[in-house]
Formats: sequence, structure tokens, C-alpha cells
Amino acid sequence: MENILDKPLLGKEDILSLLMCDEREQKKLFARAAEIKEKYVGNIVYFRGLIEYSNICSKNCLYCGVRSGNQHVKRYQMTDDEVFEACDYAFRNGFASLVIQSGERHDVSFVRKISDLLKEIKDRYQGRLRITLSCGEQTEDSYRQWLESGAQRYLLRIETSNPLLYSRLHPDDGNHVFRERVEALDTLKKLGYQAGTGVMIGLPFQTIDQLANDLLFFREKDFPMFGMGPYIEHAETPLYQYKDLLWTEKERFTLSLKMVAVLRLMMKDVNIAATTAMQTLDPLGREKAIMAGANVIMPNLTHLKYRRDYQLYEGKPCLDEEADQCKVCLESRIRLSGNRIGYGEWGDSLHYQKPT
Ligand code: SF4
Repeated sequence: MENILDKPLLGKEDILSLLMCDEREQKKLFARAAEIKEKYVGNIVYFRGLIEYSNICSKNCLYCGVRSGNQHVKRYQMTDDEVFEACDYAFRNGFASLVIQSGERHDVSFVRKISDLLKEIKDRYQGRLRITLSCGEQTEDSYRQWLESGAQRYLLRIETSNPLLYSRLHPDDGNHVFRERVEALDTLKKLGYQAGTGVMIGLPFQTIDQLANDLLFFREKDFPMFGMGPYIEHAETPLYQYKDLLWTEKERFTLSLKMVAVLRLMMKDVNIAATTAMQTLDPLGREKAIMAGANVIMPNLTHLKYRRDYQLYEGKPCLDEEADQCKVCLESRIRLSGNRIGYGEWGDSLHYQKPT
């Protein structure tokens, strides 16, 4: 174990050993990841205020609660006033970054609306808020338009880097093509976004070998930021029929922590989110992820009246907590983990290189 932790470059076998290590070794892994985090990115956690802008989606991913085929979901799109209320809160409270997340839509009015919101945010706050978009696969033109309108970062999870597993998570309808997702990520990087990706951990049919390959995919593609977490089943999805194949929640959670820690070992200066899905499986899940190498948290700023309608998975926490309650609760927990919050700081990934 010590030998592996000291290696400058982890190979596939090393990664597999770390992902499968026992509880005693796992403590060493997390401690080393925390040391590397402190050395390369500091004991700082950056807040990204999360705005779940709309749950209207043209896609039908087989694991997702807001998939277009789910008739039980009440669809919404936030008003401009509601978006700016959340932005004002973020700005007043020193969150220097926002994430605008939405179901995937390609219609002209949606693309224009996102552009208009970006321009208005840039004007109102004089470019002092960094914006991450997470609105799915789009054309190169749309990505470019949003970049020019004021977005700097884009999060598009690959969900799994294994094409066969990807095909089991998505309908075979020509709209959910693995190759196109990889191309979309390449386009984001080419255009100059700080591009982020991630995977779900503990999916039915998924193997540890595939997760090791996911980490190698991240390194090979050289992304500067990541958001990954445990797969959590949703009863109103087709994938739910395989729930008996799942690892236990504890196993999925622990494996997610290991993925964060190994990624920190492999890519020392990237940004890694402690995702809400971690907190869903363990009340202290995000803090534990911070202690295992993560350095970003996304407090939810979405208006309470919409939170229940944006559940990609079941059991999502903080559905009834105002932004202020979340902030106070997170602040004390982060302090307890020995980190400070980077208020007023953009916290761009140190790994990000602008294209020349
Ligand atoms: S995962 Fe994203 S793209 Fe897929 S159905 Fe859910 S919201 Fe839509």
C-alpha cells in the first residue's frame, strides 16, 4: 500500500488495488489524498451556488428521475426574477461562483434564454461571478454562444467511460450516443471552457475494473474539474428494475470516497466536488469527501418550491432548507474538517490551461 501511495504515476493495477483496499488501508489512502490536497490546492473549500433552472428535458436517460418519459414529474422553468434572487444571494454571501443546471434542451428559445441570463448576470455583477453551466450536450455553436455570453465552466458528466455500460443506461434511440458525449466534452475543451466531467459509482452491471478505467479516462483527457458520486436508484426509472443487483449503500458510498481519493492522487491540482449524492447516502458524506480530497461544494440556491421537482435520484437532502440554513450548516461542518471556505474567491481549477 505504502509503495503504491508513493508512486508518481499510478497504473491500472495500482488503481485497482486502491479501489479494493480494506478499511485499514483505506484510512491511509484518505489521509494521503488529504495531504496532497493541502499541498497542491490548499485546505480551502469553494462554494458554487447551485441553481436548478429547469427540469424540462428532451432526453430519457434510464437512471434519471426527471427523464422525459416520467409522467409523474411536475415540469418547471424558473422565472428570471427567481434566477436573479438566487444570484443576489450568492453575490451578497461571497459565493463567487454559480452553477446553472438544467435538463437538456436544444430549441432556439432555450439557447437564447440561457445566453440572455448569462449576459445579464455578467452585467449586473460586473463579471465578478464565475458561471458553470450544466445543460447537457449542445451544438458547438450553442456552446460558443454561451461562452461568449459569460459562462466560463461547463460540467458534462460522461456517467461512465465504458460504451457498453453507457448503452445500458440510455435508450437506443439515436439521442443518447456515447461517441457524441465524448465529442461534446472535446468540443468544450477546444472552445476554452474549464470543462468538468464525472461518473456514477455503483451502477447496476458496473465493475471495479470499469471504475479504474474511468479514472484513467479522466487523466488521459486531462479535465480540470470533476463531479462524481454514488448511483442512487429512483423508483420511477427503468433502471430501478435492477435494484437487487446493486451494492449496498455503504459500499457505494465508500467506493465513491475511494474514487475521490484516488483521483486526487492521480490529478493533484484539479477541482473535485463533494457531491450532494454523497450526503444522500451519509449525513456527513460531503465532509467525508472533503477529508478524502474534494475541494468544492455546491450549496443549493434553488427556490424551495422547485426542489422536490428536481430529483434525478431519490432521497435528495435539503429539500426544505433555505439557502441560509444550508450555508450555516455547511460552514460549521467544513470548519470541523479543518478547511476554510474560499469566500469571494473564484477557485478556478489550477489544472486548467487556456487553449493557446
Ligand atoms: S440525466 Fe440529464 S439529460 Fe438525462 S434525463 Fe436526466 S436531466 Fe435529462
